[in-house]
Amino acid sequence: MLSSKLDTGGTDVASGEIRYYIETFGCQMNQRDSETIAGLLETRGMKPAENPREADVVVVNTCAVRQAAERKVWSRLGEIAAMKPNGREPVIVLAGCMAQLPETLERVKDKVPYVNVLTGPGQLDKIPRLVEEAMDAKTRGVAFQGPLVAVSPRRTEAERSESTQVLPENLPRVKVPGVSAYVTIMYGCDNFCTYCIVPFVRGPQVSRDPRSVIDEVERLAQEGYKEVTLLGQNVNAYGHDLGGNYDFGDLLADLDKVPGLLRIRYATSHPRDFTPKMVDIIRDSEKICEHFHLPVQSGSNRILKAMHRGYTRERYLELVEYIKSQIPGASVTTDIIVGFPGETEEDFQDTLDLVRQCRFDGAFTFIFSPRQGTAAAKMEGQIPHEEKSRRLERLVEVQNSITRENNRRFLGKTVEILVEGPDEREPEHFRGRTRTNRMVICTSGKAEPGQLVHVRIQEVGTWYLKGPMAQD
Ligand code: SF4
Repeated sequence: MLSSKLDTGGTDVASGEIRYYIETFGCQMNQRDSETIAGLLETRGMKPAENPREADVVVVNTCAVRQAAERKVWSRLGEIAAMKPNGREPVIVLAGCMAQLPETLERVKDKVPYVNVLTGPGQLDKIPRLVEEAMDAKTRGVAFQGPLVAVSPRRTEAERSESTQVLPENLPRVKVPGVSAYVTIMYGCDNFCTYCIVPFVRGPQVSRDPRSVIDEVERLAQEGYKEVTLLGQNVNAYGHDLGGNYDFGDLLADLDKVPGLLRIRYATSHPRDFTPKMVDIIRDSEKICEHFHLPVQSGSNRILKAMHRGYTRERYLELVEYIKSQIPGASVTTDIIVGFPGETEEDFQDTLDLVRQCRFDGAFTFIFSPRQGTAAAKMEGQIPHEEKSRRLERLVEVQNSITRENNRRFLGKTVEILVEGPDEREPEHFRGRTRTNRMVICTSGKAEPGQLVHVRIQEVGTWYLKGPMAQD
């Protein structure tokens, strides 16, 4: 869970000031959405609280990708309801992907009366009005007959191209201070990977107008941000719905020209839509980082087909090879799911083999967890949990040893980092990332966030590189 890191002040309920607090679960899209929720609440005169105990309005921005995250949300909501600042119950908003699930509404109605507002990710702009209605009802002592609800219409795979309401442009936003800012370039997803709930809860793919995206990035650069991360569920499909030839590669090429920025990142990529043209544009650019996060999910063609991923292992290997041939030193990372329904030992061996061939710099590894409403949840051949855990352990062992070996190549070398700030564990040191997204802890010298500095690597771990500032 990521708590809101937005600027906060002290509580002042006695003065009549309304305080809000946002807790964010899940992905970068949710973190970006929370910035908009904060902006919307502040335009209604609300002020940030330092913690939920001091807040009159608590927004829990949720993720529906994994069952475990949902369980955490339900227990957290209970804790928040029990806090009762100044003896009053806060208005509680359950926002984000979980709010889109029909079972969430049922559960709130039946068992979770302290959740007053439910809003899906496509309905953020309704939050202030619903919060005010809920506050008004509480003040007047009106009993709630279920939560106030703003969710997008339920979508099925058969209605995959149906358009949906997207958020208006230029909604207010309270940005997390720092050197890096998120920029949403598209909403939703049309892929319907068989294990994934996202297309059902975030709706169809809708790309933002390129001019609006470029304007937003220019403004962020003028405000002093040094890095932007472009966000979408499948950024490589950007533009496919715009009805012209403008694609993600064109957007990258245009953003590379924005003055003042040092680095451009993006998430999340889909290997099916990552074209050689995009790789060439990144190779020839100045600011687009040489980090390719390419979720492969499985190394078995049979499982990739069952997952509905739209590429084969051969096509994936070709893409990785092309990246490494065009951009030597580029880092390639991935996501992998083990224990997808029907995955045999042979399929799993194919995954291990692909991991060894690609020599990923890092991997997020997951045990398949069935999500109600997805095709994979109903598939035959569900794998027992113990077997999934064993496979995960074996995969992590292989990948971690590759990551450590890859990192050892940096011993004695000098790398450039964009300074983010003090290291969380060792605050006497500062940290930053390389363009290839390696975390580096710098053990000497002083630097301000946003500065580029060089670090001589003397120590490497699985997740970090470490050393003193290099002397010029
Ligand atoms: S590309 Fe697949 S995994 Fe990614 S959000 Fe879309 S459906 Fe989910």
